[in-house]
Amino acid sequence: MKLARNILIALIAGVMVGLVLNLFAPGVFSKADLFLFKPLGTIFLNLMKMLVVPVVFISIVLGTVGIGDPKKLGRIGAKTISYFLITTAVAIFIALAFALVVKPGAGGGFETEGISYEANEAPPVSDTLLGIIPTNPVTAMAEGNMLQIIFFAALVGFGLAMLGKKTDRLVVLFEQANGLVMYLITFIMKFAPYGAFGLIASAVGSQGFDALRAMGLYMGVVLGALAIHSVIVYGGSVALLGKRNPVWFFKNFFPAQVVAFSTASSAAALPISLKTAQERLKVPESISSFTQSLGATINMDGTAIMQGAAVVFIAQAFGVDLTMGQLVTVVLTAVLASIGTAAVPGAGLIMLAMVLTSVGLPVEGIALVLGVDRLLDMVRTAVNITGDAACAVVVAQSEGTLGDPAMEGVPAEAKTI
Ligand code: ASP
Repeated sequence: MKLARNILIALIAGVMVGLVLNLFAPGVFSKADLFLFKPLGTIFLNLMKMLVVPVVFISIVLGTVGIGDPKKLGRIGAKTISYFLITTAVAIFIALAFALVVKPGAGGGFETEGISYEANEAPPVSDTLLGIIPTNPVTAMAEGNMLQIIFFAALVGFGLAMLGKKTDRLVVLFEQANGLVMYLITFIMKFAPYGAFGLIASAVGSQGFDALRAMGLYMGVVLGALAIHSVIVYGGSVALLGKRNPVWFFKNFFPAQVVAFSTASSAAALPISLKTAQERLKVPESISSFTQSLGATINMDGTAIMQGAAVVFIAQAFGVDLTMGQLVTVVLTAVLASIGTAAVPGAGLIMLAMVLTSVGLPVEGIALVLGVDRLLDMVRTAVNITGDAACAVVVAQSEGTLGDPAMEGVPAEAKTI
C-alpha cells in the first residue's frame, strides 16, 4: 500500500510536470522527455517486461501441478473463459448503449474530409487461437508468445502432477524459482514510482490539449462506460459470485491497477498483478496464475469498451446510422478483437480497424480518436487487468479455495525436501 501511495504521488507529480512543460515550456519538455522522462519510463517498463516470461511460465507450471487433476483444470478453464466472454460482451454492450445515448460524434462538426490513417494489418484472431501449440517452446519464450507459453507450461505442470513422486524435486525447484521471481518483482517495484513519473510526464507532456477539448464527449463516454463496467460487472460479480466486499477487492488490487495505468500494458503489469492477487486477494496460485495470465492475453474489457464507443463515435462523425444488425456485428467482432489484441500500449487501436471494417466504416476514422488514445489506453489497461483479477476471485470462490493461498494438491513429500 505504501508503494501504491508512492506511485500515486509520482503520478500526480508527473501529470503536473508534464502539464506545466506542455503549456509553458514545450522546448524544455522535448529535452526533458528525451533525457529523463522516456528513459525512466523505458527502464521501468523493460524491468517489468523482463519478468513476464519467467513469471508466467513458472507460476503456470506450479499452478497446474497444484490443480493436478485434468478434469479440474478443464473445469477451471471453462469457468474462466465463460467469465471472460460474458463480461467482454457486456462491456461492449454498455459502451454502445452509452455512446448511442450521449452521441459524442453527432454535434461536433468533426473534420472527416481528407483525414488519413494507415491501418496496420491486424493479425487474424484465428491465427492467435490456432497458433496456441508451440512447435518450439524456446522460440515461444524468446518471442514472448503468451498463449504458447501458457500451453507449454500447463502441459509441463500436468506432466509433473502425473509423475508425482518421481519428479518431486523438480516441483521443489519450481517452487524455489517462484520464490525468486516473486522477490525480484518486489525488488523491481521499488523503482516503480520513478518509472511511473517518467511515463506519465511523457504522456501528458506530449499530449495535444486541443485534441482533448474537442474529444471531451468521446472521452467521457469511454471513461463513463469503463467506470460503470468496473463497478457493476466486477464489483457485482465479486460480491455475488466471489462473496467478497467489492471495496475490499478494489482497495487491495489497487497497487496492480496503478502499474497497469502507468505502463498502459497488461503484459508489463502481469507480474505485479499476479503477486497482488495472490498475496492481497488471497487467490490461490493455482487459479491466479492460470486465470490472470490467460486474461492478460485474451480478456480485455476496457479495450472492448473503447472499441464499442469509438465505432459509434466514428459512425456519428461520418454521419452514418448504424443498424441493429451492424451493432450486433460490432459486439461480435469487438469480442474477437479484444481476444486478439496484444497486451501492449496502443494495440487496441490497431484492432479497432478490424471492427470498423466489419461494419463498413472507414478505418481513416481512427485518426479522429488517435490524439486522445494514449490517456484512455492507460485507464482501459487498468480495467483490463481488474477484469482478470475479478475472474480469479470468482473462480477461486467457486472452487472453494479463495483465501487459501497454499497450493492444494502439491505432493506433500515435494514440500518437505
Ligand atoms: N494497452 C492495452 C493493454 O495492454 C491494450 C489496448 O487496449 O491497447 O491491455
